[in-house]
Amino acid sequence: MKLHEFQAKDIFKKSGIPIPNGQLVTAVDQATNVVQIINGPPWMIKAQVHAGGRGKGGGVKMAHSPDEVVASVEALLHKPLVTKQTGPDGVIVNQGLIEEGVEIDRELYLSMVVDRSTAMPTMIFSQAGGMEIEEVAAKSPELVLKEYIEPSVGWMPYQARNLIYALDPPPSPEAIKGLASVMANVYKIFMGLDCSLVEINPLVITKEMKVIAVDAKISIDENALFRQKELLELDDPREKDPLELMAEEYRLSYIRLDGNIGAMVNGAGLAMATMDVIKLAGAEPANFLDVGGGASEEMITKGFEIILKDKRVKAILINIFGGILRCDVLARGVLTAAKKISIQVPLIVRLEGTNVEEGREILKNSELEFLVARDLAEAAELVSKQVL
Ligand code: GDP
Ligand code: MN
Repeated sequence: MKLHEFQAKDIFKKSGIPIPNGQLVTAVDQATNVVQIINGPPWMIKAQVHAGGRGKGGGVKMAHSPDEVVASVEALLHKPLVTKQTGPDGVIVNQGLIEEGVEIDRELYLSMVVDRSTAMPTMIFSQAGGMEIEEVAAKSPELVLKEYIEPSVGWMPYQARNLIYALDPPPSPEAIKGLASVMANVYKIFMGLDCSLVEINPLVITKEMKVIAVDAKISIDENALFRQKELLELDDPREKDPLELMAEEYRLSYIRLDGNIGAMVNGAGLAMATMDVIKLAGAEPANFLDVGGGASEEMITKGFEIILKDKRVKAILINIFGGILRCDVLARGVLTAAKKISIQVPLIVRLEGTNVEEGREILKNSELEFLVARDLAEAAELVSKQVL
């Protein structure tokens, strides 16, 4: 679950990480009052959307007068913002953050994730802040530093020194203290709130040697939300893909992708393999959809409906290995969905496993038109042919 920048900064503030003073606005007429209570000039006006790369996309503006603040809020609010991460249509900006501008001396990068290869919480630090860390890692990997944390020991002060004293030139003693404090607090937040990501880019050293988090990104591990109930209210469904929201409601694992082959599969592994063979056959999957082992007829119906609602889908592949999910349940679910929404695209079906004969029979006796594939490779060939 992603948090907005202003929500992440609230958490920072409570945890002792310095942030610029700011105020959220949801309507243009609020800006005139807010500019009175926030120090400036300059002021920063920042679009609150879950996508990153706002700076380059025009979603972060600097204003030098109250009039400019209002004009910037007006230019951002309730309009689409296109960044590298939003896709060409962009996302609607529902909220804006007005902040006091910070005089930046140095921009650094700091984040914490769980490193997959060591399975340890990992602090990532770089003196190349303000840029995309992936880019820095690709071009100058020596500038990306890491400290792995043994959770039974916790974050140790020497680890902060390892990272901070690698800065060239070294920062002032005051800034060193500030950086070490931010690092310790990032670890506390990361562990305490079951985060999958805490990122500060840029983490700024000001001309007055103060260390301030100018940007803030927090993602919470959704599997831990049952014990982070007070964070649930920070969820903003407006930021989500409507089809992904619908999938969430029915407990389907669904992720929208960029291609045009809709795929309905049971089991995450099989879903991955199916995406791979679709690509191998030269096409691109429109989604990842794992209906799960114990999917009910209703879940199948909803899953199929979601695929059909996706206007980019030009062909559909149903690839089910019936285990706990029986093939006849799948077939009935598909038919129910097909009754509600007419299928305008070719449908390729590959069924195997429990009750496969019954499942095939149900499909055959229906009015549904579909092609049958014998195996995964043939299924991918068939479905790719429809779009290539
Ligand atoms: P992002 O592009 O979505 O990551 O948005 P950021 O919050 O990181 O802002 C983009 C860039 O705007 C930052 O990298 C900074 O260079 C700049 N910026 C943000 N806030 C301030 C500020 O208060 N003062 C100055 N001078 N620059 C800022
Ligand atoms: Mn940023």
